[in-house]
Amino acid sequence: NNSEPVLMMLFGATGDLAKRKLYPAFFRLFRQQVLNDHFAVIGTARRPWSDDHFREVVADAIADQNPTEPEQSAFLQHFYYQSHDVGDASHYQTLAKLADKLDQQYQLAGNRMYYLAMAPRFFGQIVTQLKAAKIIDTAGFNRVVLEKPFGTDYESANKLSQELTQVFPEKDIFRIDHYLGKEMIQNILTLRATNSLLESQWSNQYIDNVQITFAEALGVEQRGGYYDQTGALKDMVQNHILQVLSLLAMELPTKMSEAAIRTGKVAALKAVRIYNADEVAANFVRGQYTAGSLNNEQFAGYREEPAVDPKSRTETFVAGKFQIDNERWQGVPFYVRTGKRLTEKGTRINIVFKNLTANAEIATQNVLTIYIQPTEGFSLSLNGKALDNQSTTTPIRLSYRHDSQMMANTPEAYERLLHDVITGDATNFTHWDEVAQSWRIVDTIRQAWDQDDQPLPTYAAGTMGPKAAFDLVAKNDNQWIWQP
Ligand code: NAD
Repeated sequence: NNSEPVLMMLFGATGDLAKRKLYPAFFRLFRQQVLNDHFAVIGTARRPWSDDHFREVVADAIADQNPTEPEQSAFLQHFYYQSHDVGDASHYQTLAKLADKLDQQYQLAGNRMYYLAMAPRFFGQIVTQLKAAKIIDTAGFNRVVLEKPFGTDYESANKLSQELTQVFPEKDIFRIDHYLGKEMIQNILTLRATNSLLESQWSNQYIDNVQITFAEALGVEQRGGYYDQTGALKDMVQNHILQVLSLLAMELPTKMSEAAIRTGKVAALKAVRIYNADEVAANFVRGQYTAGSLNNEQFAGYREEPAVDPKSRTETFVAGKFQIDNERWQGVPFYVRTGKRLTEKGTRINIVFKNLTANAEIATQNVLTIYIQPTEGFSLSLNGKALDNQSTTTPIRLSYRHDSQMMANTPEAYERLLHDVITGDATNFTHWDEVAQSWRIVDTIRQAWDQDDQPLPTYAAGTMGPKAAFDLVAKNDNQWIWQP
C-alpha cells in the first residue's frame, strides 16, 4: 500500500464540502491504509469548536460507512481543531505551532497538504499567510488543493494564479475538477488507448460529430444566489465540459505520463477555435427555464427561484458547437450542451460515426455512447440484418453497464483525487495552462452575450432545452442523441 506520512490542514472544516465529501473520503483512505498511523488532520474555521466536538462531527460524516468502534476511535484520534480566522495573521502563528507539534507526534516528515474548502476570494490571503508564517518551510512536500471556481474570467483567474504561484510552484497546486475523478472520465483515455477498433477511427475521416451532454434534472435549489452570478457557461462549460472535450480530442501520447497527457490536453484546447461575436451568435445558444411540469410534478421558473433576480438574464442552459482547428478534427462539430431542469440527470458522450458504406441508405450511423453518470458504461450501435426482411437492416446495440454492486466497491471521486494529492500525481487535476485556455475560449462567448440585449430564449422546466438548441444541430443535418 502506498502510504506517505502527511499533515492535512483543512480550511473550511465546518463547511458542507468537508462534511459531505472530504471526511468520508479520508475515512476510506484510512481503511485502505493509504492513511496509516502517520497522518493528522487540522480542521480550521471561525467557529470555536473543541477537538472533541470536531471529532463528533467527523464521526457523523462517516457513520454511513459503518465503522467498528475501534476503527472509528483509531481514525478520530488523528483529528484536531483550531479556531481560525483566515484574515488574522496571528492565528497562523498558532497554526504553525500546532502543525509542528503534530508533525513530531505522528512523524509526518514535514509533508503537508493544505485543502482550501472555502470561497475562492480567500485563497490568495490564505496561501500568502501560510508562507509568511513559514508553515510551508518544511523538509517534506507542501501541496495546496483547491476547488472551482478558478476565477470568473481569464483576468481574475490569472490574478489568482499569480497569487498562488508566488507561494507554491505550479506542480504543487492541485486544482480539483471532481469530474476528473470519475471512473468513466478516467476511462476515456483507456478506451482510446487500448482499442484499435476505436482509435483507428478517431478522426474527421470517420467521425461525423461528437456530443457531450451534462444534463441536470434539478433546478438551482438553494444555490440561487451563487448561480445567478455565474450561469451555465461558467459553471459547467469552462471547466467540466472543456476538460472532457480535451480528453476526447487530444492526440494520444505514446507514453501516458502526467506531463504528456497535460501537453496533449493543452494542445487540444489551443486548437479550439475562439469565436468572434458573429460566430458566437451562429454557434452558441443559451436558455433559461420557465415554469413547467414533468411526470405530474410542477416546477417553478428560474426567475421565481429563491435568491434569483426576478429580471435575471442568467442562462440555465447552454448548447454550442465547438470547432477544433487541426488536421485530426477539421470539419467535425463538437456539440456540447448542459442545463438545469431538463428531463433527467445524465452525463453522456456520443461519438457519431460517418455512414460510409456503399449501403448507406439502409444503414444508420454507428454511435459510441459513454455513460458517465448516473449509470456508468458504454454502448456501441451497429447495423444488423433485420430478421424479417432480406434487404433492410436493424440497429443493434452492444451495451455494457457497470452494475451498482461493482460501483459500490470502486473509489469515489474525492477519494481517488485525495489519494492522488498524497502520492503527488497531478494527472487528474487541472493545470493552469488548461484553466487559462478554457477561460479564453469562454470569455468571448460571455462577452458576446453580454452585448446582446435580445430576449433570452426560454424552455419549459422538464424539457431538453430551447428550440434553438435543436435548430443548432439541425443546421448541420445532425440531431442530438439521447438514448437510455
Ligand atoms: P460552506 O459555506 O459550507 O463552508 C465554508 C467554510 O469556510 C466554513 O467552514 C466556514 O466556517 C469557513 N469560513 C468562512 N469564512 C471564514 C473566515 N473568514 N475564516 C475562517 N473560516 C471561514 O462552503 P462549501 O460548500 O463547503 O464550499 C467550499 C468551497 O468549495 C467553495 O469554494 C465552493 O465553491 C467549493 N465547492 C463546494 C462543493 C460542495 O459540494 N459543497 C462542490 C464543489 C466546490
